[in-house]
Amino acid sequence: MESELDIQKFIPQFDMETEMNIKKDIPQFDMETVIDFTKGVVLNIYNSFVNEDLKSIRIRISDELINKITKNKELYRISKNFDRVAVERVGLIGYEKKEDGIYVKIFANVNFFDDVDNNLDGAGGNDKFWYDRWIITYKAITNIGNNCQNCGAEMEYNKETNSFECKYCRSVFFRDSKDWKVIDIEVQK
Ligand SMILES: [Zn+2]
Repeated sequence: MESELDIQKFIPQFDMETEMNIKKDIPQFDMETVIDFTKGVVLNIYNSFVNEDLKSIRIRISDELINKITKNKELYRISKNFDRVAVERVGLIGYEKKEDGIYVKIFANVNFFDDVDNNLDGAGGNDKFWYDRWIITYKAITNIGNNCQNCGAEMEYNKETNSFECKYCRSVFFRDSKDWKVIDIEVQK
């Protein structure tokens, strides 16, 4: 079990340079969007495993990762016994450009609460909590390409609207964090 203070020391500095480098390869990369997406997807993944219902997350995470979590439920603290799970902080660790795509590493501090006495007296003195850090590897799905999905003509990226616009039929496509696939999650306790 770790205190909040212990957690602080292994949060890396916000890495502006890494973010700028990612933007060179993925112009629409937006840290705020990735943070929001991460908070949602971590809870989505966690709850899907707890409830043994993986239907909704199968498109979001790799089969390898599904197998890994299924085999290591204790490591990921997959348990119905927690009263509350919360993602407290998300940040960028780094990224890597490989032949088959761009990989981005994100950390998320995940807190598990066991409200032993369920705070009935408001004291909360007997509650238990655990802090883990999940190191999440995303793969950017960039195969939307530069061509319009409507007519096939070349599209242009519009920085202001964070969207792609077809020069020919004027269709507009938004690329957001749904373009990330969760490839791996390592747990640091
Ligand atoms: Zn078009």
